[in-house]
Amino acid sequence: MESQDKVLVCRDCGKEFLFSAGEQAFYAEKGFQNEPTRCRNCRAVRKGAPASSDSGPSRTLFAAVCSECGKETQVPFKPTAGKPVYCRECFQKRGSRAPAGRRSPAYHD
Ligand SMILES: [Zn+2]
Ligand SMILES: [Zn+2]
Repeated sequence: MESQDKVLVCRDCGKEFLFSAGEQAFYAEKGFQNEPTRCRNCRAVRKGAPASSDSGPSRTLFAAVCSECGKETQVPFKPTAGKPVYCRECFQKRGSRAPAGRRSPAYHD
């Protein structure tokens, strides 16, 4: 069983490229059913391209002011009036310090 180099046409750039015997063997080994449809160049471009434009739905962020440091921040939920909103840093600071239990602010130690 001997594979031969094949010349395929890239469906992205329309250029001919070589699907070598070695690559065919590699594909067969991996169990790929289809021949490559893109040349090496276009495959590299697709791999390296940032997929930020169409990867997942973008979350709606709401502008808020941090109750702790007063910095403007964005939160993934609609801030409720009367409820404190924290920026990322303050949220993390608080999270590592105090448990989320409810404590009356009237008592100081
Ligand atoms: Zn190409
Ligand atoms: Zn803050």
